Amino acid sequence: GCQTVKEALAEGIKKQQLDNEIQLIETGCMGLCDLGPRLIVYPEGVVYCRVTAEDAEEIVNEHLLKGRIVERLVYRDPETQKPIPFMKDFPFLSKQTKIALRNAGLINPEDIEEYIGCEGYSALAKALSMSPGEVIAELKKSGLRGRGGAGFPTGLKWEFTAKANATQKYVVCNGDEGDPGAFMDRSVLEGDPHSVIEAMAIAGYTVGASKGYIYVRAEYPLAVERLRIAINQAREYGLLGEDILGKGFNFDLNVRVGAGAFVCGEETALLASIEGRRGEPRPRPPFPATEGLWGKPTLLNNVETYASIAPIILNGGDWYASRGTEKSRGTKVFALTGKVNNTGLIEVPMGIPLGEIIYDIGGGIMGGKKFKAAQTGGPSGGCIPVDHLNVGVDYESLAELGAIVGSGGLIVMDEDTCMVDLAKFFTEFCQEESCGKCAPCRIGTKRMLEILERITRGEGEEGDIERLIELCEYIKSTALCGLGQTAPNPVLSTIRYFRHEYEAHIRDKR
Ligand code: SF4
Repeated sequence: GCQTVKEALAEGIKKQQLDNEIQLIETGCMGLCDLGPRLIVYPEGVVYCRVTAEDAEEIVNEHLLKGRIVERLVYRDPETQKPIPFMKDFPFLSKQTKIALRNAGLINPEDIEEYIGCEGYSALAKALSMSPGEVIAELKKSGLRGRGGAGFPTGLKWEFTAKANATQKYVVCNGDEGDPGAFMDRSVLEGDPHSVIEAMAIAGYTVGASKGYIYVRAEYPLAVERLRIAINQAREYGLLGEDILGKGFNFDLNVRVGAGAFVCGEETALLASIEGRRGEPRPRPPFPATEGLWGKPTLLNNVETYASIAPIILNGGDWYASRGTEKSRGTKVFALTGKVNNTGLIEVPMGIPLGEIIYDIGGGIMGGKKFKAAQTGGPSGGCIPVDHLNVGVDYESLAELGAIVGSGGLIVMDEDTCMVDLAKFFTEFCQEESCGKCAPCRIGTKRMLEILERITRGEGEEGDIERLIELCEYIKSTALCGLGQTAPNPVLSTIRYFRHEYEAHIRDKR
């Protein structure tokens, strides 16, 4: 609804002849989806929530003309009903730490001056005065791990590509976010595209690459548009192109739009797709760090990883590493969706208890119902049941429970959710998205889905659970790429924690 609100505001501002005094700016996602569309009036910083086109006239006439806050549109504390007009006082933001999302929702993503006004491109200037080895040392100190899901140490990855011997190297950004329920990358690209561009330029300098590609799915047209605007502005300001900041460093970027295949999020499939070939994974090694795009050494990170780089260079690796746990440093962005009251985009220190995310930030379960489980990592992940509500959300703790941090999808289920249905949903997704190159995934996910379908139709047979487990283990250990290797995870984890639901379907024929 934000476009109609914007149009109504523009009309009201014009009608009151405030066009010379008031600037109407469209930002990216502010993170609080449940309270949208939102509007912030500066310089006071008053936040209006769930604004409609009909409310726009009142905001113009009362706030913009007379300086009076329209209280009925201000967020209220759910318990006391006290109005909270300023974002810094929103209770569910107090447990968040915004690093990758530092500018999203606050600046105009189509104006490079606003990014520069928030220390933008200072990290690039600083990096260019450091040696590539010093940049890598800072990244290693920070403990940053790839935020796309695998969690590989970023500093080490940059070092491998830097050490590869070649005259041409590439830097690539994976913006092919495709998990159901995930919109982290989209929000960064739409809200703060320069944070990715700046980091990719730093990466180019560090690993010795002069060209980069940002791969974004076609379903994100606004992200693509804003990236293109941002790249052109960076070129105009001498922050991309030749002799960047007069330091003799050349680096330029291009956007590649993917056609929406989930498998193109897998790194080798993504690189094939950039080259103009069919997006199919290939066996590794060789890894992209030594043989990537067109056979050249290539550094590949995802959007959130890049968005975290500039603050690390500016503030130092120790600053970033002071958050999180010993092995999972820093912060992580999650798309919090499902049956919670405050759905939206959050950024939290690694290791925060799941219960704090769901209750303190998410505002608890909708309609006062009971929490049943949370699914992290989307179709590659697993579920976390109520008994583990206070598990620390970090790479190691979630892996112990059979779940993963993944790229950041966090779907909350209440007591009414059928966990077999949930497993069927994710299996259907993986089966549909399987590229078909290898038999375990192409045929195996199909057989898994058939068993799950008959169980949920009430036609399950004795031994179906064991058949599913056996099939899952084969697929996990023999599929060629991450899509197939992780596709069984939702089934295995729901059987691990909710086996009784499978048994009830089979026993009661329902
Ligand atoms: Fe394709 Fe699935 Fe095999 Fe990956 S595991 S190569 S997606 S068929």
